[in-house]
Amino acid sequence: MLIGMNKCYNYWEFLLIFLLGLGICTSCNGQQQDQSENKIIENQWQQIKTIDEGGLIGERVDLWRNHRLWNIGNSDYIIEGFEKRPGMHPWQGEHLGKWLHAATLAYGINRDEKLKLKLDEMVERLLATQLESGYTGTYGESYTFMALPENDIKTELADDIQPTKKKANSQANDEAPGGGWDTWTIRYNMYGLLTYEAYFPNQEVVEACKKMGDLLIGIYGEGKYDLSKYGTRQGISATTLLESIVMLYERTLDKKYLDFAERIVKVSEENPKHRLMGTMLEKGSVVYPGDGKGYQLMANLLGYLRLYRCTGNEKYLQTVLHGWQEIQEKHVLTTGGPWTRKMPYNGNKECFAKTDAFHPDKIVVEGCNNATWIQLNIHLFELTANAKYFNEAEVALLNSTYGHQYSDGIEWCYYMAPNESSPKYEPRFHCCGSSQPRGMEMYSNHLAGIVNDNLSINTLSASKIKLPEQFGGGTLDIESGFPLTQNSTIIVNPIESKEFTLEFRVPLNTSVKRVSVNKEDVELLQNERGFLQLKRLWAKGDQIIVDYEYELKATIQDGEEGKRWVAFTYGPLALAQKIDRMPGEEPFFNIDFANPDELLGQLTKSATSSAEFNIEGGNSIIIPYYQTGTKNSGPKTYFTINN
Ligand SMILES: [Zn+2]
Repeated sequence: MLIGMNKCYNYWEFLLIFLLGLGICTSCNGQQQDQSENKIIENQWQQIKTIDEGGLIGERVDLWRNHRLWNIGNSDYIIEGFEKRPGMHPWQGEHLGKWLHAATLAYGINRDEKLKLKLDEMVERLLATQLESGYTGTYGESYTFMALPENDIKTELADDIQPTKKKANSQANDEAPGGGWDTWTIRYNMYGLLTYEAYFPNQEVVEACKKMGDLLIGIYGEGKYDLSKYGTRQGISATTLLESIVMLYERTLDKKYLDFAERIVKVSEENPKHRLMGTMLEKGSVVYPGDGKGYQLMANLLGYLRLYRCTGNEKYLQTVLHGWQEIQEKHVLTTGGPWTRKMPYNGNKECFAKTDAFHPDKIVVEGCNNATWIQLNIHLFELTANAKYFNEAEVALLNSTYGHQYSDGIEWCYYMAPNESSPKYEPRFHCCGSSQPRGMEMYSNHLAGIVNDNLSINTLSASKIKLPEQFGGGTLDIESGFPLTQNSTIIVNPIESKEFTLEFRVPLNTSVKRVSVNKEDVELLQNERGFLQLKRLWAKGDQIIVDYEYELKATIQDGEEGKRWVAFTYGPLALAQKIDRMPGEEPFFNIDFANPDELLGQLTKSATSSAEFNIEGGNSIIIPYYQTGTKNSGPKTYFTINN
């Protein structure tokens, strides 16, 4: 029996955990476990430890680690719904699992012992709330998924955006604040707990997750109720459970969890309004399955990707790849954020819409949608080691995520429109404020790795990486002002000289001008995965200087009523004008839309700033999108073309 490596471990941690796991399993609870013979398909790319991040990436991830992380972690709100059932809000329970995920990954980098104590405390408190049945949600007895297994009563169901409110003056102790989301809570409990447990092996945590899994199998397993009938958006919210159940299978290798995962697929496919896999295999659109609910649809794809790795069933992989392609081609902005809009044929403003619904003032990027797109790309990157997936994740991080994050480190936007004059940054706990740090931490945990015995460097941003023994031990240091400068110095500092192939990824829309090793120019080969590589004997202090050049690009976007817009990017950076009020509908450009080169000809690079352009014929400038959002200003990313 072989086991694949989970994304959360570095190489040595994994080995340790695996060995500990073996020891624990032989002495566990004595119940018969049907061990699967399936081989888990290993990811091609295995992360190695990030010690520190610098530059913009370090600054932004520290805003979260020093502020929001503690703001959430020290709040009673995330645990109160479990400790004093019922909770106040239908998906109040999600925040703890999301926090455990992001905060555990943060600990993986900064090794902050105070954070470790906080993580332990929150896990212990959550586990203490588990009922004998295994239930670990925030609902009162009368409206859990056990009480309402097939919830067709829409009036009691909390909608995705505006949950029904608990009635004022109600004396009923367990009156629903709107139901239908406690399988969702358990999905996040399991995700957070299993991530924590991957770093801090603890059989008690595994047993608690098994009890949650067993409870769900008892209600929704073979011959029982249909999970796709529970909750919102044709069941696609509830079936996000798939990924967490597969994680539980990966951890336990107990076949019943894999069977349950396949059962979730089966009921999803039998539900004509869900049917995500069938639709993707027919090369259909993401606009229809589960009402096109973006965040949930991508979270389902995350489940299919894990299920592929556990079964080798190509159908699951093809589902993910077609979904990825549809989203990448039709639903992603130049900022990397996936956009959505309410239309008559979908569910609400968080649902994917057809290209002809595009309008930069009327669409939104939901923060969770953005974070889940980053997750999907990072997991596809781990599987394939193909640079194209990490490029997408990087663009979404540098633009969309940083646009949603406020400079005080606490506040986040739930939605951002590509054109809006006052993004709504707010301190309250919402799904998006809890999701987005997960994308940031996943990025930070994937700065370098191992693929086919190559040292694979995934960033040109300032950072410090721990070199594993196979590369001579020691560290790898990158010095750079990325993404605002266009050169980086990679310093290889092994304790012992070693011969190996070093490869690095070049950001999107960027070409390499010159690379030198110890001041001598070298020619690099681009491998089939899009990385530039060089094999040699690497010794302490070897310096690779990479000079690169961002491409200035105009992207033409079709949209509502045959209108067209143009947006500009500079390397991986989306550009936008900083506006403090919404301009009217008057065309910004007045030339032939079919010729993006002419549009580019209207831009001249500012002499004073590295990523700023003046627009000819006006007194406007465009700057990196992420710099436009304040309490009094926002981005204008898409400009009308008069055609
Ligand atoms: Zn959200």
